[in-house]
Amino acid sequence: MTAAPQDSDCLFCRIIAGELPADVVAETDRTFAFRDINPQAPTHVLVVPRAHHADVAALFAADPTLVSDTIRAGVEIAERAGLAETGYRLLMNTGAHAGQTVFHAHLHVLGGEPLGALVGGGLRMPG
Ligand code: 5GP
Ligand code: ZN
Repeated sequence: MTAAPQDSDCLFCRIIAGELPADVVAETDRTFAFRDINPQAPTHVLVVPRAHHADVAALFAADPTLVSDTIRAGVEIAERAGLAETGYRLLMNTGAHAGQTVFHAHLHVLGGEPLGALVGGGLRMPG
């Protein structure tokens, strides 16, 4: 039997609880990591704290050590994927302008090829 999700409306809580399938990469008592369903790079893993917090600001306010646990898990996953030498990107989108779509704090681990500009992909208006 798996635990009930913390927030039954939250996609990532339901993945953590095993209610929805995911390609799980790593687990600790505090974090859970799985492959992004729409990968933007050869390695694209999401690391989520098991506890539900809407974004990194709420996570940091509630439990700062869980931020470092999440980043540590991301570094370990990148190293295990062989990305230490070529490099990788750890990214947490926060709010509308960053394009956050899932409001359970998560760390993107991206790598395996040159990742391009940090910001871009869309037309930007001057001013
Ligand atoms: P955000 O845009 O909020 O920073 O990132 C959300 C990420 O979650 C996106 O990269 C998206 O592809 C991924 N995602 C959305 N739904 C699912 C899902 O059901 N399973 C998995 N593995 N990833 C998902
Ligand atoms: Zn959640």
